[in-house]
Amino acid sequence: MRRPMVAGNWKMHGTCASVAELIGGLKQQSLPADVDVAVFPSALHLAQAVSGFAGAVAVGAQNCAYEPQQGALTGEVAAIQLLDAGCSLVLVGHSERRLLLGESDELVVRKFAAAQSVGLTPVLCVGETLAQREAGETLAVVAEQVAAVIEALGVKVFANALVAYEPVWAIGTGLTASPEQAQQVHEAIRAQFARLDASLAGELRILYGGSVKAASAAELFGMPDIDGGLVGGASLNADDFGAICRAAGS
Ligand code: PEP
Repeated sequence: MRRPMVAGNWKMHGTCASVAELIGGLKQQSLPADVDVAVFPSALHLAQAVSGFAGAVAVGAQNCAYEPQQGALTGEVAAIQLLDAGCSLVLVGHSERRLLLGESDELVVRKFAAAQSVGLTPVLCVGETLAQREAGETLAVVAEQVAAVIEALGVKVFANALVAYEPVWAIGTGLTASPEQAQQVHEAIRAQFARLDASLAGELRILYGGSVKAASAAELFGMPDIDGGLVGGASLNADDFGAICRAAGS
């Protein structure tokens, strides 16, 4: 039985004041005991979230450097520094970084490895663009993004990682994949793992992301291979995010 996770990606949003308000609002929510809840604030607000939640909600970073240890890499944050700051998770390969900042599969693999080498749990984000979906390439694109990590690091690394399927056309657009569309891709991802390691595939948590809202969450999370969500816009509202977390509970 896979334990669901609902994670909020706060992206490049927030001030010290608005983050304090959001943390306060989330602490008022009754969050389900059978769901792992996590937030991914900007690097600037990680420490604030770690101390504000005091362990009630896991905190992760949206990115890490490809080098795990401290060093001369201006503007980057090392995985070891994220661990030291109290993070337990890190997103790797978010589509905004792949597409807007030019992150290649090779770089994503290095970040994934850097995160795991210090004990952080990477959340590997994968997903197709609208053009790729319309060209019928969805499953191939996603399989290739997953395979890049498996081929470089081996399938076993996913015993301590999550995958987030986030169709690019659904991120921040208000368009959500239908539960059936999302399930089809989640099932294919799990099958890809099952061909290599059936027991790992059965345990692997695969989150759905792309305009998840309180109204759409329960149906998405009800699909057999969807183990929760990675939520952007709606995670900036404590009531909405709380409702999405509750939708993942039993
Ligand atoms: C995201 O960026 O990870 C995301 C899913 O965003 P949104 O929910 O706003 O589409």
